[in-house]
Formats: sequence, structure tokens, C-alpha cells
Amino acid sequence: MAPPSPPPPGHAAPFPEGAGGGARVTIVGAGPGDPGLLTLRGLERLRDAECVVHDALVPEALLDAAAPRAERIRAPRDAGDPDPGAATGRLLVELARRGRRVVRLKGGDPSVFARYAEETRALEEAGIPFETVPGVTALLAAAAAAGVPLTRRDGASHLTLVTGHEAGEKGAALDYRQLASLPGTLAFYMGVAKAPHWAAELVAAGRPADTPVVVVSRCSWPDQRVGRTTLGALAAGTAAFPGPPPALVIVGQACGDRRPAGTPAPARRTAAAPLSGRRVLLTRPDGQGGEIAAAVEALGGTCLRAPLVRITAPASWGPLDAAIRAADTFDWIVFSSANGVRGFDDRLRAAGRDARALGSARLAAIGPATTRALADARLACDLEPDRSDSEGMLEALLPTMRRGRVLLVRAERGRDVMRVGLEAAGHQVTEAAAYAARPIDRLAPEVESALDDAPIDWVTVTSGVVAETAARVFAGRLGGWRIASISPVTSRVLEGLGFPPDCEAARPDGAALVAAMAVWEAARRGVAEIHGGRGSGAGPAP
Ligand code: SAH
Repeated sequence: MAPPSPPPPGHAAPFPEGAGGGARVTIVGAGPGDPGLLTLRGLERLRDAECVVHDALVPEALLDAAAPRAERIRAPRDAGDPDPGAATGRLLVELARRGRRVVRLKGGDPSVFARYAEETRALEEAGIPFETVPGVTALLAAAAAAGVPLTRRDGASHLTLVTGHEAGEKGAALDYRQLASLPGTLAFYMGVAKAPHWAAELVAAGRPADTPVVVVSRCSWPDQRVGRTTLGALAAGTAAFPGPPPALVIVGQACGDRRPAGTPAPARRTAAAPLSGRRVLLTRPDGQGGEIAAAVEALGGTCLRAPLVRITAPASWGPLDAAIRAADTFDWIVFSSANGVRGFDDRLRAAGRDARALGSARLAAIGPATTRALADARLACDLEPDRSDSEGMLEALLPTMRRGRVLLVRAERGRDVMRVGLEAAGHQVTEAAAYAARPIDRLAPEVESALDDAPIDWVTVTSGVVAETAARVFAGRLGGWRIASISPVTSRVLEGLGFPPDCEAARPDGAALVAAMAVWEAARRGVAEIHGGRGSGAGPAP
């Protein structure tokens, strides 16, 4: 065997571990959907990334593998841009020049029908080294799902990957006579819409009409479906597709045996799952729907992300910076969200200080997610109330002190319950905004088109601001979806807007929100008992 050749210019060898900070760009194949099909190296790179550039529909659970503070950026896919690959390439160059550790997360494998050349050209031209981590391409997941061999000693001695997208386009490079004459397996990516065209061309060029075909819809997703048909039925337009896009079409004698048509994904993910077949719209800010998405998927549902608020800096850091300088003068520092913890910690570190600046101040977190954010910042939580809302926090806090000094680290806009309650009890309260939740103006185009692709069953509403924004940006559509509300406060806002929720979480957290949807669905289906998702903590609250 020849010795390994050096990587071509522009392509770096894998980064040495512990190489220290600095810019680096890694193109990572995300696999076909199931996070379990990401490679270990891909996971490592994702965890270490400061910035993840991803396509609109990569699974939430994968993005959540990135560090909570990693910036998530949707790859430019502006329909008006004649070369979206180059636009993404320019973005990668810009991020690398800013010294960021960047992961470009692409569905399946980055080198298969994925504009790899277009996206990496700008990096090469700019002389920025990059690394590529391969992924499981959809075809391999489809073959595994259908239980078919892609090659066989008898009659399938090669495998050809084809794009069905160009079928029928003027100047398309496909030569159907050549394709038809190949005796092996053909795999069509992006092949569903134009299947009648390319199938008819193959039959016309001599492939037998009874050539077996396997179609796998949404490989490795919880709602994966496998269907079987023939080339002739595809050509005639009479073949039924087993499920929604994306789908992969495999053509060849090797598809002729194995499992019966319509085989669902592994039973652990679909059998009697309360949210099976349900599509849930997640409205949390980018990077924060992880808990909800994981619980929905564990119960068999699928998620579409449409963040309705963006977390940004508050109008001024002045009050928070001043509070941090005086942090050790407070009896309690109270955090009412994970975002508040992150904003506080960022400003603390930016000022060159650390936990010692807090002196003997005790720390309170409103709920489990906020406590986790404190732990991420290496701060222990001294108090988390039983009830995760302002009233619960007041109840827990008041008995702990007489005439204390309290710092409330909060959103720019929000409820005043805590300040009012603490002041009424004689405490001195300082409030400081650590972030602002800004409603979006309008939906991103890719969200609009995803909403048109398939119906939505549920929308999750996780705050009053989200409720108001949902009513504005979804307009008439909202009334057609079932609404899950995270808390009584949010439900009241929804009712005021004319959209009473269908269910409400028993506790204001993501797991309870998903449990409430599952209970609603189970009651609808007449299922007496719900089997909770694997380790999701999403079983119905007692
Ligand atoms: N780089 C990707 C392919 C992108 S082209 C990869 O290696 O898989 C997009 C096409 O891939 C879709 O039209 C569909 O044919 C296929 N595809 C991607 N994900 C899929 C999935 N989960 N199930 C079925 N087909 C999928």
C-alpha cells in the first residue's frame, strides 16, 4: 500500500488535542437526523465550538450538544442569493478571522450533495485551514432502515449516488442511458418531486419496469417510514410515498428482498408514544429549546424551531455593572432565569472578577434550569423554591432574613412581583437587567416555508412575551394549532389575546410542559396510562 499522501492545500490534518484557543473551522457531517448517528469526533468539535453555523432543520438535540454559550447561526439560504454556498463560505471566513472556533454543521455527510466545494472555496482562497469530519449520509441510514444491501456479490457490484433534482432541467448532466446500463444500485437524493420523470427515463433507456425500489422517508427520525415499489410504478406516477420529505429512493435488484413494506422506525421510538406523529413548534430563543425538544422527541414527536424572541444585551449594562461592583454587600442575589445567570457571569468575568467578588452573598435560583446555569458558571445555588415562579421565590426567601439587601438579576422587561413583595416586607431591593428578550419582527423565510411543508399540531408558549409575539407573527394560523402554556401567568396572557391554551404545565418547566401535551393527547386517544419517555423526566407530573 502507498504511504498516506499529505492533505491537499487548505485541508488541515485533524487538530491536535489541547492545541489551545484560536480560530479553527471544522465542517462536520451531522448525520441523517438521529443525534446518535453523529460521529464522536463531530461531537467533540461541536462541544468545543464557539460558533455553530447550521442549516434550518438540523435536529435541536444536535445543536444542544454545543456549549450553551456557543453562538448559533443559520447558514444563509436566501432564495435570492444565486450562490448560497459562497455566501456561507464568506461567513465562515469572517468568523474565522474574528478568531472563533467555528463548526459548520451539515446534514448527512458534508461532501454528498451539500455544496461542499462552494462553501469551502472562500476558506481556501483566504488561506484559512479547515478540517472535515465525515457524517453518515442519508443513503446509508436508508439502507439500514430498509434492511437492504447496497451491494451484492450477485448483480450489484457498484453503487451510484444520483441527484434527482436536476432531472428534466435544461442542460442537466444526467445521461439516463448510461445510468440505466449500470447493473448495480442507484440511489436518488432529492429525487421525490421528479421521480416520475427520472424513473420514466430509466425505463425508456432499458431498466426493467419491475426493478425493485425502496423509498425511506425521514431516515433515522422518530417518524421514519420505509416503503417499497417498482421503477414502473414510479414512472407511472402511481407509487405511494411512505411519508413526508426528506426521502431517499434506492433502485436496484438489491432492494428486492428483506423486510415488508411500511416498516416503521425501531419500536422503542414510536410504539404507543403519546406524541407519535405530532409536530411541535418550539418558540424558545435559539439554543434554549433543548430540554423541550428532547422530551418531545423521546415521546415520539418531531420539532420545528421558530424562535420568537432573541436574547440580547439590555439597553444599558450600567446597573448590572454597578451591582456587580457591590456584589458582596447583598444578602441575596436572586436569579430569575438561566439567561440572567449567563449575563451576570459574563459581566463579572468581563470585569476581570470571579466568585470572590460575591463575598458572602447567597444565591437563589428560580428553578432547575437556572440552578443548572449557576452550576455551569461554577456557582452553587443556596436556594431553589419548590414553586418555580416569583411568588414561590418570595415565599421561600422572606423567612430567611430581616431587613436584608437583595439584588434581583432579571430581564429588562418582566413582572414586578418580587420587588414589590420584598419591599413590602421592608427589604432593600436593587434590580439590574442582565439581558433583554426582544420579540422578532417577522418569521425567518425558512421557518415560513417549513410551516407550509407540513401541518403543525402543537405550539409551545413559554412566556408572556412569546405569547404576544406568537399572536402577532402567526396571526390566523395560531388559532388552528393546539397551544401548550408553560404557566398560569402565560395562560392568562394567552387568554387575554383570545387564544386560550389547550393545556398548561403543572410546573413551569420544559419537561412538565411536554408532559401536559402528552396527557392531553393520551386523553384524546383514550389511552389510560402514559409510558414516559426514556430518561426525559417528561412523565406526567403527579
Ligand atoms: N449531505 C446530505 C444530502 C443533502 S441533499 C447527506 O449526505 O445525506 C438532501 C437530500 O438528502 C434529500 O432530498 C433527501 O433525498 C436526502 N436526505 C437527507 N436527510 C434525509 C433523511 N433523514 N431521510 C431521507 N432522506 C434524506
